[in-house]
Amino acid sequence: MPTLLIHHADLLITMDAARRELRDGALALQDNMITWVGGSNAIPADLLSNANRVINARGKVVLPGLVNTHHHFYQTLTRAIPAAQDAVLFDWLKTLYPIWAELTPDDVHISTQLALTELLLSGCTTSSDHHYLWPNGSRLDDQFAAADVVGVRFHGARGSMSLGESQGGLPPDRVTEDEAAILRDCQRVVEHYHDANRFAMQRVVLAPCSPFSVTPDLMRQSAALARSFGAQANVHLHTHLAETKDEEDFCLARFGYRPGDYAEQLGWTGDDVWHAHCVHLNPLEIEGFARSHTGVAHCPSSNMRLASGIAPVRLMRDAGVPVGLGVDGSASNDSSHLLAEVRQCLLLQRVMGNPHAMTAREALEIATLGGAAVLGRDDIGALAPGMAADLIAFDLNTLGYAGGAVHDPLAAILFCHPQMVDLAIINGRILVQDGHLLAGELPQLIEKHNHAARALYTRAGLA
Ligand SMILES: [Zn+2]
Repeated sequence: MPTLLIHHADLLITMDAARRELRDGALALQDNMITWVGGSNAIPADLLSNANRVINARGKVVLPGLVNTHHHFYQTLTRAIPAAQDAVLFDWLKTLYPIWAELTPDDVHISTQLALTELLLSGCTTSSDHHYLWPNGSRLDDQFAAADVVGVRFHGARGSMSLGESQGGLPPDRVTEDEAAILRDCQRVVEHYHDANRFAMQRVVLAPCSPFSVTPDLMRQSAALARSFGAQANVHLHTHLAETKDEEDFCLARFGYRPGDYAEQLGWTGDDVWHAHCVHLNPLEIEGFARSHTGVAHCPSSNMRLASGIAPVRLMRDAGVPVGLGVDGSASNDSSHLLAEVRQCLLLQRVMGNPHAMTAREALEIATLGGAAVLGRDDIGALAPGMAADLIAFDLNTLGYAGGAVHDPLAAILFCHPQMVDLAIINGRILVQDGHLLAGELPQLIEKHNHAARALYTRAGLA
C-alpha cells in the first residue's frame, strides 16, 4: 500500500481531541487513511525508510481539509447579475428563478466542476451541494459525474420545489416538480449513489428547498423516506430555515408556526438533520435544536449580502447546537472561497461589539469538526490516525501572511487576507501541489464556464 510522509511543517494543526498544534509537525498516510501524526523528530524509522513519497512542508501550515455544508453550485453561472445585486432574498429569488429555469444538464455539470474547483483551491476537501431545481432533463447524476472529475468528497443534496406561485409559494410553477416524481427520484439517487461506509466519496441527502417552496407533506414524506433506509445508512436531511424575517412571516401566516417550531412539528429535527442559515431562531428554538442535536449551516457572507441578519452562532454554540460552515450559493456570496468564509464567520460574530464572540481557533473548529458533525461523519475534520487522508496546506511565505505567520500561523491564515492552498490531498490523492491543480486546465474550465453563463443569460432573454 503506498505511503506518503509529510514532514517539517512549520505548524501542523490536528484538530484532534487534544487540539494539538505541532511545531515541526509530520504525518503519514497509507492509501486513503492517516496512520501516524507527530513531531518530525519522532518519526518512526520504518516510516521514514519505507515511505513511497516524502513531501517537505517547511514554510507551510498543514491542517485538516475544510468542510462546506451549504452551497448551490449552479449559481456560479449567475454571480453578480445586475438586477439581483441589491435585493433581499425573496426579490433576489424572483429575479433569478426565470434564469435558472433555463439550466441544462451541461450547465449543471460545468458549474459543479467550477464550484468544486474553486472550493478545492480555497481549502475545501468535503462539500455538500443543495440543488433544488431540475429543468430541461438535468439530474443529480450530472453533479456526481462532475464531482468525480474534481475529486472532492461530495454530499449531493437532492433538492426539490413543489409549491409554485399558483399554490401560494414563491417560485414560478414551471420550476417546481410533482411530489411523487420527486420522491421516486430521491429513492433512485440514494440507491444508486449513497455510500454509508467510512471514507465514502459520495453520499446523498434529501433536501426539499424551503418553507416557501415545498409543502409540509413533502417535508414529512422526504424525512420518512430518508429514515426508511435505517440509521446505519445515515441518509441526512437538509433544507433552508429561518433565513429571513420574510420567511418567518410566511411561516406564521401560512402554517401558524415560527420556522423552528414548524421544523420540529414536521419531524425535521434530530442528528440526521441540518438547516441552512437559522438567522432568526429565537432562544427557545435554539434550545430545542440543542436538545435534538439538530445541525446548522452558518453562511455569513450570504446573510450579509442579502441583508438577512446575523445568525446567533455564539448562542447556538454555547447551547450545544452543532454548527458547520457554508459558503451558500454563488449568486449570494458571490464566492466559493471556503477559507474566506471562515474569516467571515470569525468577523461577523464580533460586529455587535464583542471581540471575544469568536476566536480564530473556534472558527476553524466550526469549519472542520463542526462541518463533519453536521454531515454525520466521524472520519473527516481532524488529522489523527484512523481518519480519512484529507488535508490542506498553506504557504506561509506569501505577501498576505507576511508579519502574521511569524507570530501565530493558525491565526494568520484566518485574520490575514485569505490565500489559495499550496497543497490539497483528498482520500490520499494529491489534487493540488505547489499551488497548482494537478488534473485539468483551469483556463479552459473558466472559459467553458463563462461561455455557459453567457448562453444561459441569453436563453433567459436578458442579453
Ligand atoms: Zn442556500
